Amino acid sequence: MAKDYYAVLGVSKNASPDEIKRAYRKLAQRYHPDVAKMDRKEAEEKFKTVSEAYEVLMDAEKRKNYDTYGSEAVNFGGSGFDWSNFTHFQDIGDIFSNFGFGGGGSIFDVFFGSQRQRRGSYAETGASLQYDLDITLEEVNSGGSRMIEVPRSVQCSECGGTGAEKGNLSMCPTCNGKGQMTHRQSALGGNFVTVRTCQTCGGRGKVIREKCHVCNGRGKTHTVSKIEVQVPRGVDDGTHLRIGGAGEPGINGGSPGDLYVVMHVARHPEFGREGENLFYATEIPFTVAALGGEIEVPTIGGRAKLQIPQGTQPGATLRMSGLGLPRMQGRGTGDLFVSVKVRIPKKLSAEQKELLRKFATTEEKSKGFFSKLKNA
Ligand SMILES: [Zn+2]
Ligand SMILES: [Zn+2]
Repeated sequence: MAKDYYAVLGVSKNASPDEIKRAYRKLAQRYHPDVAKMDRKEAEEKFKTVSEAYEVLMDAEKRKNYDTYGSEAVNFGGSGFDWSNFTHFQDIGDIFSNFGFGGGGSIFDVFFGSQRQRRGSYAETGASLQYDLDITLEEVNSGGSRMIEVPRSVQCSECGGTGAEKGNLSMCPTCNGKGQMTHRQSALGGNFVTVRTCQTCGGRGKVIREKCHVCNGRGKTHTVSKIEVQVPRGVDDGTHLRIGGAGEPGINGGSPGDLYVVMHVARHPEFGREGENLFYATEIPFTVAALGGEIEVPTIGGRAKLQIPQGTQPGATLRMSGLGLPRMQGRGTGDLFVSVKVRIPKKLSAEQKELLRKFATTEEKSKGFFSKLKNA
């Protein structure tokens, strides 16, 4: 089914990223399933649709593909829109944290994906986990995958997460399995009936008579999960990647929480970084600065030759186009900026001194020549 993402967001075909963001913000607030004045299912669908449109139109490459070939051509990894790669997680967090919906990406825990549906009235989604991953600037440049080990809980396989030995829960003796207690009271000449959740079983109607010997009644056991994380090329320091369902297990059949992997880019010994651009400082002999020449500089992917123009001044910055980092959104790469220090020799041989004195006299002469011209 072809979709008109521009119409979905109500923007023109040549809308700027800012206009798209504003339009999305407005619609996301209107259709957020917690506040939308419509059926919850319908609100979720609307919310997904506008988020999908936003995801495509904010990504230069996807937008171009979409403009050229339509929504079918936008690659969502085969199985429709892939929420696990939702790159605007931080934008979303911003949108809702500003409006009292709680920050972070917690809204995803509740709304997205079929696994996220709550099952049974006491089902609870598992807690989300955060993992801090240290990566190098070289990894930012090349991208790639990393295996991480995440300590987490899993549902106890012995008792199926019930916490009861062999999974055998017993009927709650307090409420006889109803999960509620009804109290009748007479007051002010009338009869009042109040219904309260059973305190013994917490409303489940069932209790654990004998605790599971493996998990001791918790319904969960500890484990260390090995998880493969894809490091996106050009990823920024502080980016959160969401891995759906890799968090703590849900309670009473609820879906598991998510794992958020936070990227921490280590400081590089040679290069500074600003977005997709890299910065490097080097020293050149004063003769090369004056006469020009070629030097070799390290790059994030190896080494490259840099042309020093004649008459380069101390502190000058030279740009090496395309030798920065790949851009995470859209295509292309940043640049490498090389700032140049000029090295003045501290010791000179007699011959060098002689040559420099000669140079100085020629410089005096040319100065004299020009000042004469001026005076003339
Ligand atoms: Zn009970
Ligand atoms: Zn157990």
